[in-house]
Amino acid sequence: MNDYDVIVVGAGSMGMAAGYYLSQKGVSTLMIDAFDPPHANGSHSGDTRIIRHACGEGIEYTKIAIRAQKLWDDLARQTTETLFKKTGVLSFGMADSKFVQQAIASGHAYDMNIEPLSADEMNERWPGITVPDGNIGCYEPDAGVLFSENCIRTFRRLALENGAELMTDAPVLNIDVEADSVTVDTHDGSFTADKLIVSGGAWNKKILSDLDLKIALQPSRRAIGWFNSDDRLYNADTFPGFFGDLPSGVFYGFPCIDGTGLKVGRYDNGVDTDPEYINREFGAYDIDEGDLRGFLGEYMAEANGSLNVGKTCLFTNTPDENFVIDLHPEHSHIAIAGGFSGHGYKFSSVVGEVLSELVTKGETIQDISLFSAKRPALYPENVKS
Ligand SMILES: Cc1cc2nc3c(=O)[nH]c(=O)nc-3n(C[C@H](O)[C@H](O)[C@H](O)COP(=O)(O)OP(=O)(O)OC[C@H]3O[C@@H](n4cnc5c(N)ncnc54)[C@H](O)[C@@H]3O)c2cc1C
Repeated sequence: MNDYDVIVVGAGSMGMAAGYYLSQKGVSTLMIDAFDPPHANGSHSGDTRIIRHACGEGIEYTKIAIRAQKLWDDLARQTTETLFKKTGVLSFGMADSKFVQQAIASGHAYDMNIEPLSADEMNERWPGITVPDGNIGCYEPDAGVLFSENCIRTFRRLALENGAELMTDAPVLNIDVEADSVTVDTHDGSFTADKLIVSGGAWNKKILSDLDLKIALQPSRRAIGWFNSDDRLYNADTFPGFFGDLPSGVFYGFPCIDGTGLKVGRYDNGVDTDPEYINREFGAYDIDEGDLRGFLGEYMAEANGSLNVGKTCLFTNTPDENFVIDLHPEHSHIAIAGGFSGHGYKFSSVVGEVLSELVTKGETIQDISLFSAKRPALYPENVKS
């Protein structure tokens, strides 16, 4: 008899959601985290995350984005904390931007409320943005901003109310895998379970490697800044979240919420790192502020004010930027979730639900074939040039 039905290693974005959906099913669950989630050491800090449903990443993402939003709305009904604000999200870029074209195609395929826009239409509608002639846009009014730390807090509270257990500040030191059980070691004791979920974010590379799954996961340090901005132009009641696929890089951001300033980050230019040794100080690299100011100066000049706050955070990239959500190829009692490549938060509700299905039923109704742990892209050393 094992101590628990399921142990979740890493109770951040994906793991805390999984713990909640398992607890809803009455599955005895122990979640273990190295810190005290939500916290600033992983990938979910910085208050907010964009959720788009008409996904520029590909139509496969759109179906799960719709399910994710339904689950966020269900969760929001169980708390007084704000989890989601419908600000609308604008994706824009060069006329040949695959991202914007795919967002429009995804929106049409699912008959969503989207508005393809020309540069003139964008400039007229939002005076805070300057989009060059010939650019295209896709505006999704029903998209918006998730308050990621509030969401994790809510999953945590509800999971514990349902009977799940959570160990905080308890890094998992070792995992032993037997044929039909696992033993997880921490400084505070060892625990056994029938099933295991590995959702260790930027630490997954090491955790999975110790479980004989050596897949290409690359943690990357990212900088984000909140800039003093003209509130009349950029407040969240009039200005949308945004994603710009531009000649100078790929940028994303958030309107000014509660006077904090416009928040902006760069998607495509980070510093490869190790989560144990990352320099978390904003400004440690010139690109931290330099990249963001370059974008603001060109596209959102009235938001290029003084820096209110600067922070760093972690992406974990796969070579094809698709996630890894699957059963361990060698151990069908272990489910893994990782490699969210900087665009995973919006899906964490549905990923939690999928993980809970994988460990209780061995399968899920969602199509997760794109996220296979066996796909060749995750094993670049095996790909012949
Ligand atoms: C700056 C920034 C902006 C982003 N913007 C967006 C956005 O707008 N929209 C979007 O959809 N996504 C966005 N993302 C991506 C999204 O936040 C991530 O994909 C998501 O948070 C990843 O979740 P995770 O569960 O894999 O990692 P985490 O949330 O970091 O959770 C992993 C957890 O595992 C724990 N852990 C690690 N090792 C151990 C161990 N040995 N023992 C116990 N616990 C352990 C960690 O403490 C952590 O709590 C952004 C990311 C960043 C950094």
